[in-house]
Amino acid sequence: MVRAENVHKSFGHVEVLKGVDLVVKPGEVCCVLGPSGSGKSTFLRCINHLEKINGGRIFVDGELVGYRERRGKLYEMKDREVAAQRRSIGMVFQRFNLFPHMTALENVMEAPIRVKRENRAATRDQALGLLERVGLGEKTGNYPAQLSGGQQQRVAIARALAMRPKLMLFDEPTSALDPELVGEVLDVMKDLARDGMTMVVVTHEIGFAREVGDSLVFMDGGVVVEQGNPRDVIGNPQHERTKAFLSKVL
Ligand code: ATP
Ligand code: MG
Repeated sequence: MVRAENVHKSFGHVEVLKGVDLVVKPGEVCCVLGPSGSGKSTFLRCINHLEKINGGRIFVDGELVGYRERRGKLYEMKDREVAAQRRSIGMVFQRFNLFPHMTALENVMEAPIRVKRENRAATRDQALGLLERVGLGEKTGNYPAQLSGGQQQRVAIARALAMRPKLMLFDEPTSALDPELVGEVLDVMKDLARDGMTMVVVTHEIGFAREVGDSLVFMDGGVVVEQGNPRDVIGNPQHERTKAFLSKVL
């Protein structure tokens, strides 16, 4: 579902991604760990072309992200094509980024109606179903300010799912939450994983990575230092940098 080959990304003179390779198969959950500044968010943003890469390639569901290839040459896609590609990728950020002036239900309905111009009644039914699924069937009329952080983050997940993505990207979805609210969001993500959603999850929740992850990637300094089965990497890290990091977060 995701194939990243030798991905490079610089901001000005600073190279943040120095040749990242990653493969995530359909239905897999890939957890990404690494110290602050290692390039995790940048890499996620490259997957849905919120950042343009300077080298390498990323494929999502077999399609080259952001570029068309013709006779061995790469051409940048038009904004409209990029937007179409991005629609099949859901993203959930650390901060919930809900529209404050819209209710939970309106937040979930917004993209299908505005972007896909879907039928309002059908979209509403779908949105109600999604809010039910994330445990917020009773809160559909609440505004973000009337929801806890965990509830807001669950609305954000429902909102991403409303576009029926093939792939979900999560960037530290629980790290802005009070500890007692983390579990409810992880439970929704576990449920999604059980349902077969392909997910790339940047997280410091080692328990989640161990229990739900099919693979674990440890990034440091813009490269993948180590990857493998989460239990193996966590239980028996091979690299000094992985060991040092894990000893701090475990
Ligand atoms: P954290 O765990 O703190 O979220 P991260 O692994 O997600 O860290 P990134 O946000 O990807 O790290 O940042 C990697 C590096 O790229 C950092 O040094 C950061 O300062 C730099 N960087 C990120 N975005 C930009 C930008 N838009 N312009 C310039 N530098 C950037
Ligand atoms: Mg980050």
